[in-house]
Amino acid sequence: MKNQTPRHTSAIHTSVRHSSDKILTGDRATGPLHIGHFVGSLQQRVILQEQYQQTILVADMQGLTDNGYHPEKVSSNILNVVADYLCVGIDPLKTTICLQSAIPALAELTMYYANLVSVARLQRNPTVKSEIANKSFGQSIPAGFLTYPISQAADITAFNGTLIPVGEDQLPLLEQTNEIVRKINAIAGENILSECRALLSKVPRLPGADGKNKMSKSMHNSLLLSASEKDISRVVKAMYTDPKHININDAGQVEGNVVFTYLDAFHTDCEYVENLKRQYRAGGLGDGKTKKILEECLQDLLRPMRERRLVLMNDKAQLLEILKQGTARSQEEANQVLHRVKGAFGLNLF
Ligand code: ATP
Ligand code: MG
Repeated sequence: MKNQTPRHTSAIHTSVRHSSDKILTGDRATGPLHIGHFVGSLQQRVILQEQYQQTILVADMQGLTDNGYHPEKVSSNILNVVADYLCVGIDPLKTTICLQSAIPALAELTMYYANLVSVARLQRNPTVKSEIANKSFGQSIPAGFLTYPISQAADITAFNGTLIPVGEDQLPLLEQTNEIVRKINAIAGENILSECRALLSKVPRLPGADGKNKMSKSMHNSLLLSASEKDISRVVKAMYTDPKHININDAGQVEGNVVFTYLDAFHTDCEYVENLKRQYRAGGLGDGKTKKILEECLQDLLRPMRERRLVLMNDKAQLLEILKQGTARSQEEANQVLHRVKGAFGLNLF
C-alpha cells in the first residue's frame, strides 16, 4: 500500500533557528541507516552540532514497538546505528549520543503523558495510520506501537528539544508532542515544557528505488550508507525511471523519475543536473547514461563512509563506550524534566 503523505503542519515546521534552540532527534534501531536518513536528517545534524547543544537518541524501545517478537532485530542494530552516525561525521565530543532503553525517565514520562492522550487521537495520527496499514498487523496492533507517539513526546521533552531535524513523516508526531506539551503546561499552570519545531531538509522524503514508498528500513527498499559497490550498482540499475521512455530519442519525463529525484538530492552540481533534465525532456538522453551518472555520484558519496564504517565496526567496544558515556550524560537532564512533570501532577512527595 502506498504511504500516505503526511499533512504539512506549517505551524511547526521551520527554517528559523534561535541560538537558544536545543536539538533533539533520533533513529529507530531497526536496521543500519540509509541514504534517506542522510539527506533527510543526518546531514543537518553534522552542521547543527557545531552551533547547538545536540542530543541524538538511538530509539531501541521504539524499535521494539513493531518487533517485540523479534527483539534481535533491534538489539543487533544498536551499534550499527552508532557506527552510521560516526561515519557521516557526527562527533561524540560535540553531540550526545544516548540509548533510549537505558534512560528510565523516558519510560516514566511516557506513562504520565499517556493519561492525556486518547486512543482515538492516536488512531487519527496520519503517520501511525499509514504505518499500521503498511505493517499488516491485522487485528493485533501492539499497544506499544499505537502509543509510540507518546513515547516520542517523552524523548523530545526529556531533552528540552525545541528544534528537531527530521523527515516529513515526523510532522504529525511533532504536532502530537506539542499537544501533550500544552496539556502538561496547562495542568502545571506554567510553561514547564517547551514546544518544538521541525527542521526539514531540502529532501524531506526520499522515495525508495521503486519510487513508490518512502525509503524505510522496514520496507526493504533502502540503499544503506554501508552498501557495497555492487549493491549501489544493483540498486541504481533497477531504479524506476519513465516507463514510456523506451528509445533514447523519446522525450522523457523527469517528474516521478527516481533517477532524477536522486540526482536532485545527491548531485553537487545543480546546473549540470538541470541541463540533463532539459536533454532528457527533449529526447536524446538514455536511462543507461543517467543511471551511470547517478551511480558514480552515489559511489563517490558512500565510498568514504563505507571505509570509515569498516574501521569503526572493528572496534565495537569503542562504539559501546561512546553510547554508554552519552547515556550517562543524558540521565540528569531527563530526570529533571521528569521531576517537573511529576510536580505538575503533585507527585513529588519525597
Ligand atoms: P523504520 O522503517 O524502522 O521506521 P525508517 O527508515 O523510517 O525506519 P526512522 O528511524 O523511523 O527510519 O527515522 C529516523 C529519521 O530519519 C526520522 O527523522 C525520519 O523522518 C528520517 N527519515 C527516514 N526515512 C527517510 C526518508 N526516506 N527521507 C527523509 N527522511 C527520512
Ligand atoms: Mg520510520
